[in-house]
Amino acid sequence: MTLGEFIEALTGDSVEKVVSETRCVAEPIGCGQTLAGDTHFGHGQDGAEYEAEWKITGLCPQCQDRYEELVEV
Ligand SMILES: [Zn+2]
Repeated sequence: MTLGEFIEALTGDSVEKVVSETRCVAEPIGCGQTLAGDTHFGHGQDGAEYEAEWKITGLCPQCQDRYEELVEV
């Protein structure tokens, strides 16, 4: 099972749909918020990494940070 499939199974949402609608994946994994265009990911290397991660997991930068905090205990 890929991470995308895992997220789909858990939320009933799909990463493909999330990316095409430019938003965060549905709760409880994400926040379901619409992303405010290109600037939402920030600029430079960090922004590129957030965007790459979003295309895999469907998580917006805020939710990615939330999960990083949980992992880095
Ligand atoms: Zn989010």
